[in-house]
Amino acid sequence: MKNWKLILLAAAWMTSGAIAQQDPANVAQLPKVQPAANVVPVSAATPGSSSPLTLDQVVDRMIQREHALMSFLRTRTPLVETYLQNLKRDSELGAVPKDDRYFLGRLDLASTVERRDYLFKDESFEKNLLGGFGKLFKLEYDPMGFSWMIFADREEFDRAHYDFKFIRREFLGDVRCLVFDVTPKKDAGKGRFIGRIWVEDQDFNIVRLNGTYAPRPKNAYFFHMDSWRLNMIPGYWLPAYIYSEEGDFSYGSKDKLAFKAQSRIWGYDIKKKSQENELAQITVDSVKDESVAAADPSPLAAQREWQQQAEDNVIERLESAGLLAPPGDVDKILLTVVNNLMITNNIDLPGQVRTRTMLTSPLETFSVGNTIAVSRGLVDVLPDEACLAMVLSHELAHIVLGHNLGSKFAFTDRMLFSDQATYQNFGFRHSPEEETAADAKAMELLKKSPYASKLDSASLFLKELSARAPELSALLTPHLGNSFVNDKGQLVRMSALAGSGPELKADKLDQIAALPLGGRLKVNPWNDQIELVKAAPVTIISVRDKMPFEVTPFFPHLSRMENPSSVATTTVANRSPQK
Ligand SMILES: [Zn+2]
Repeated sequence: MKNWKLILLAAAWMTSGAIAQQDPANVAQLPKVQPAANVVPVSAATPGSSSPLTLDQVVDRMIQREHALMSFLRTRTPLVETYLQNLKRDSELGAVPKDDRYFLGRLDLASTVERRDYLFKDESFEKNLLGGFGKLFKLEYDPMGFSWMIFADREEFDRAHYDFKFIRREFLGDVRCLVFDVTPKKDAGKGRFIGRIWVEDQDFNIVRLNGTYAPRPKNAYFFHMDSWRLNMIPGYWLPAYIYSEEGDFSYGSKDKLAFKAQSRIWGYDIKKKSQENELAQITVDSVKDESVAAADPSPLAAQREWQQQAEDNVIERLESAGLLAPPGDVDKILLTVVNNLMITNNIDLPGQVRTRTMLTSPLETFSVGNTIAVSRGLVDVLPDEACLAMVLSHELAHIVLGHNLGSKFAFTDRMLFSDQATYQNFGFRHSPEEETAADAKAMELLKKSPYASKLDSASLFLKELSARAPELSALLTPHLGNSFVNDKGQLVRMSALAGSGPELKADKLDQIAALPLGGRLKVNPWNDQIELVKAAPVTIISVRDKMPFEVTPFFPHLSRMENPSSVATTTVANRSPQK
C-alpha cells in the first residue's frame, strides 16, 4: 500500500462532464445532401452489394433487419431504468424540476403481450420491477410506455401498415444514415408509430427512432420519444437510450403535463456472463493453494476471511443482477482518489480497498467489506475531483472505523434470490451514530489530503444538493446505502462541510456546483462495462445552461464496431475472475 503514488487526475476529468450533450456543433456538421430521386448509391464498403439499391430494396432490408433484431432479443431480459423529472416554470431558470420519479425493471422481450396491456396498467410487469416501485410510482406514467419505443412496432412493422418516405442522408456520429419519415397507412389500426427513422447504410439497421404513436387512445398518453441504438455486437444495433419530453412552456400555453425523462437499457448479456463466471470459478478451485498464508488462520484472520467471503458474494451477486458494472477503468479512477486519501493520511489496511461503479442513476454510495461502490448517477453530477474525494472519503471512513456490514452474506444460501428481489435482500445502511462518526472521520481525512485546499467545490455541491433535494426525492432515494438527506429532505451527509465555504449563487455563471446527469459515464448495454464520456466542454451562456442534477436529451456519438469479426472478444474479454 505504501508504494502507491499520489496521482491527481488529469484535466480531462475536471471538464469532461460539463454540459456536453447539446453541442450545436453536432448539428452544424451534418452534410447537406440533396434528397436523391429514387436510387440510393450504397457505399462501396457494403459487403455483397456492388450495385446501387433502390429505395424499395432499402426499406425491405430495413424491415427485415428490424424483425431480425426482435427475434435476436427474444431470449434477452435487459434492465430498463427510467428517471423522470416533472417540470415547473421558474422565471430565472426556465423549466426546472418540480418532482421526480424513478423506475427500474427487467424487460422481457420474449413476451407477445398486446400493446394495449403495456400502455395501460400491466400487473405482470409491475411485479417484475426491482424494489421501490410501489412507493415511487403513480399511475399517471406507465414505465412500460417509456421502454415501448425500443422497436418501432413489435407486431406489424411492414409495408402493409406503413408508408416510408426517404428524406435525406445524414451522419449520426461516424455513421452515415438514410433518413425516412414513417407514417401509418389509413386504417392501419391504433397505436402505430409515426415519426422518423435513421437507417445505417451498410446492413440497413435502424439506429435511431424519433416520434410517437397514433392515434392516441382514450385515458392514455403516447409520449414523444427519441430512441437510440448502439452497435455493440456484430450485425445488430441494441436499443440503449430513450429520451422523452412533453410540455410547452411558451407564454399562454395550457399544457398541463410537463416532464422530461431518460430511459437507459443495459444488461442484454447478463445470463451468459454468469455462466462464464461459473466456469471461471471451477478453474480457480482446481488450483491448490500452497502459499504460507494457507496455514491455520488465527481467530482474527478467520474473521477477516469470513468478511472477505461475504464481500465477494455480495459484489458478484450485484454484478449478476445487472446492478454493478464489471471492473473497469472508471473503478481505477475512483481507486486513485481513494489511494490519494489513504497515502496522505498514512492509512494501511489489512485488505486492499476496491472501488466499483453501480449502473444506476440514484445518487448513492455504499461499502461492503473493503469495497466502495458509487452509483453512475452520482459520478455523473460531481463537478470535480475534490467532490469525488468528498464522496469517497465518507465510505473510506466507514472502512477505517471498522463499520463492517454484510458479513451475514458469507452464507451463500443468502445469495439465492431472484434478481428482481435484490433490493429486498441487500441493504448496507449504517446507524445514525456510525454515519456521524464517518462524517467526522471523512472531514479529518479530507483536511490532510491533497484536496484540502479545494473543498469549496465540495461544499458548493452539497449546498446545491441541499437546495434541490425537495424536488428530487426519487434521485436521492438510495436503494442499498445511506441517503444524503433525511425524510424531510434536509442534508445529513457531510453537513459540516456544507455549512462552510462560499455562498451558492445560481446566477454566477462560473460557479458550477453540480452537473446534469449523463455527462460523465456511459454504459455498454451489452456487457455492462462503464467508461468515461469523451466530450469537449461546452461554454455556459446563461444560468439556464447549468441544469444541476437535471436530465437532458441523449445525443450519443454513433460509431460502428471497430472489428466486426471479433465477436468473441466483446463477450468474453471480461471473463477472468475479479480478484
Ligand atoms: Zn455512511
